[in-house]
Amino acid sequence: TSFAHFSFDEQLMNQIRKSEYTQPTPIQCQGVPIALSGRDMIGIAKTGSGKTAAFIWPMLVHIMDQKELEQGEGPIAVIVCPTRELCQQIHAECKRFGKVYGLRSVAVYGGGSMWEQAKALQDGAEIVVCTPGRLIDHVKKKATSLQRVTYLVFDEADRMFDMGFEYQVRSIASHLCLSPSLCFSPTLSVSLTLCISLCISPFLSTCQA
Ligand code: AMP
Repeated sequence: TSFAHFSFDEQLMNQIRKSEYTQPTPIQCQGVPIALSGRDMIGIAKTGSGKTAAFIWPMLVHIMDQKELEQGEGPIAVIVCPTRELCQQIHAECKRFGKVYGLRSVAVYGGGSMWEQAKALQDGAEIVVCTPGRLIDHVKKKATSLQRVTYLVFDEADRMFDMGFEYQVRSIASHLCLSPSLCFSPTLSVSLTLCISLCISPFLSTCQA
């Protein structure tokens, strides 16, 4: 697979070229087409595999499609991850690629200033990268609303489960059950399986004909 297979527009392709990526990584080859199709996905990929771009590029395509349809407030994409460091790294990637379309990203994580984060949320952003508890705190305080969200990512879902974010992940999944969910973990572990079966899949839509 080459980048041409993804049918990204020139703006995004230029930014990928600027990053000097010559070809997509295996998780990008497999994951990008699935994410672009709007299906739920479980991605098994370690740090360093290029997984962040694998969910960010389709997210940008989705946001640009969605933005014209739906005016309104609040993020269109939410990325949930376990730690402040990961949150900041993902946020930096969102800014790097999101700027080609003028899209804004806000990072909200535990330990950062509630007030500053609330202000950034209220200034408006299409993308919110967050740790689970802090996102819920901001929603409760009405600093943001999740009503416009149609793209949801849980990165390092196994670790969120191990760190005790079970209730928070469940709560976010239950609110955003109409969005396609992308779930990433470095290995297909017991923690990932528990996270998906207890916190996420109860809210995925099922139909039987
Ligand atoms: P990640 O697995 O998302 O933590 O990404 C690890 C590193 O790989 C990051 O520094 C990315 O900038 C880089 N990267 C992502 N996609 C590619 C690619 N297709 N080719 C080369 N490097 C990449």
